[in-house]
Amino acid sequence: MRVVIIGGDAAGMSAASQVKRLRPDYDVVLFERGGYISYAACGIPYFVGKAVGSLDDLIEVLPDEAREKRGIDLRLGHTAVAIDPSGRTVTVEHEGQTTVEPYDSLLIATGARAQTLGIDMGTFAGVFAMNDLSDARKIADYAAVEKPETAAVIGGGYIGLEAVESFCGLGLKTTLVHRREDLHRSFEKEMSDIIKQKLTDKGVALSLGKPFSGLEHLGGGVGIVLGEESLEADMVLLALGVEPNSRLAAEAGIGLGANGAIRVNEYMETDAAGIYAAGDCASAILTTFGTEVHAPLALKANKQGLIAGMNIAGEREAFAGVLNTAVTKIFDLGVARTGLSFDQARDMGLEPEKIVVRSRDRARYYPGSSPMTSLVIVGKKDRRVLGAQLAGRVDSVKRIDVYATAIYNRMTIDQVFELDLAYAPPFSPVYDPVLLAARVARKKR
Ligand SMILES: Cc1cc2nc3c(=O)[nH]c(=O)nc-3n(C[C@H](O)[C@H](O)[C@H](O)COP(=O)(O)OP(=O)(O)OC[C@H]3O[C@@H](n4cnc5c(N)ncnc54)[C@H](O)[C@@H]3O)c2cc1C
Repeated sequence: MRVVIIGGDAAGMSAASQVKRLRPDYDVVLFERGGYISYAACGIPYFVGKAVGSLDDLIEVLPDEAREKRGIDLRLGHTAVAIDPSGRTVTVEHEGQTTVEPYDSLLIATGARAQTLGIDMGTFAGVFAMNDLSDARKIADYAAVEKPETAAVIGGGYIGLEAVESFCGLGLKTTLVHRREDLHRSFEKEMSDIIKQKLTDKGVALSLGKPFSGLEHLGGGVGIVLGEESLEADMVLLALGVEPNSRLAAEAGIGLGANGAIRVNEYMETDAAGIYAAGDCASAILTTFGTEVHAPLALKANKQGLIAGMNIAGEREAFAGVLNTAVTKIFDLGVARTGLSFDQARDMGLEPEKIVVRSRDRARYYPGSSPMTSLVIVGKKDRRVLGAQLAGRVDSVKRIDVYATAIYNRMTIDQVFELDLAYAPPFSPVYDPVLLAARVARKKR
């Protein structure tokens, strides 16, 4: 059996390692167009902001380890350019040479790329996206060599917010540009307001609610065109969201789904025989709600890769889906979310209501006790927990995992109140913020 895998990061390497673990007799050939495999893109903002000293620290598995210890036939600098599902081959380019590679099973794990709205970044010095390790290197080198004094980050989602903190850490006067008054739609307005306040407190300039229509050369730097105005910065990061790398699949006639991601079933199978997809290039189902989504998150990529690998090796393992559970740090503020937003729940006809509770994250008298905001989205009639968002001290918001577990188990907010959660003053008030939110919700019955 010859297994071909395209893409060597979270999904591709998880699958390759799994196939070789379960079926050492299978040939696993992995084509990666870049020079790295198995790297933590999630760590890039912290490398740029110098919280992580070396880019090498972000690499989980070195190429030699993949080849020698895991038995993967790893080909770096190889780009897959076409798939022929009927002939079961992949065409691959390497240093100007093209080869046609046969497969019995194929996994597409090509990830996602930063959206750039068609802007040719090459024509502007100092304009970057933050997608992979080579971007991280370019940004760090530019900051070290050109010594910019000002930066603008365009896009108020997770990556944009993390980048703002990184640039401030480099001592740059930083502006966050976002086209709406509220930040990314994945944050409820209450959370967006808390984040905006934190940014302002930390000296970040906000340029909100103005349409971004492109870049121009302006003075010694880059002009960001916002309607009638132009904002100048020495360095610009485009953090406009990501789109799946699904072109290869689409050109081969493989079906696409949410946001153009490759449509897969729970076994990671596409609609073409013998072809699987996993990670940021592939779709997923929202657990318990059944809606198809594109969720470009690391745990999902690793799990889908693992499950694709198991199934390629002959098992029959299903992926349970995602809840879009995510957490981020903006300076000393932690923000987390899981499940549906209020608007999503309303659009799905689930008649949601929002409960917002402000509390402390530890006993009031214990050193370091800090304010925390819990927002829970609950079905008005069935009382089911549909979504939750938290903001507070960085460590405190991992409580989101309790809500993710509650949603997965289709729990009502009243059942959440029944949970026996741990208490001691250094960790929480007697009524943990999760229980307190449930207690407030009970009063609304
Ligand atoms: C700055 C940043 C911060 C992030 N932070 C978080 C976080 O805190 N939490 C979280 O959950 N997620 C985070 N993510 C998302 C997370 O990194 C991704 O979900 C994860 O890396 C997806 O893994 P993947 O293997 O599907 O795709 P990728 O990591 O995109 O890897 C795909 C690989 O395929 C290769 N490739 C593509 N096309 C071809 C081709 N034609 N031929 C050969 N090779 C090809 C690429 O070079 C790449 O190495 C972050 C992402 C970024 C960019």
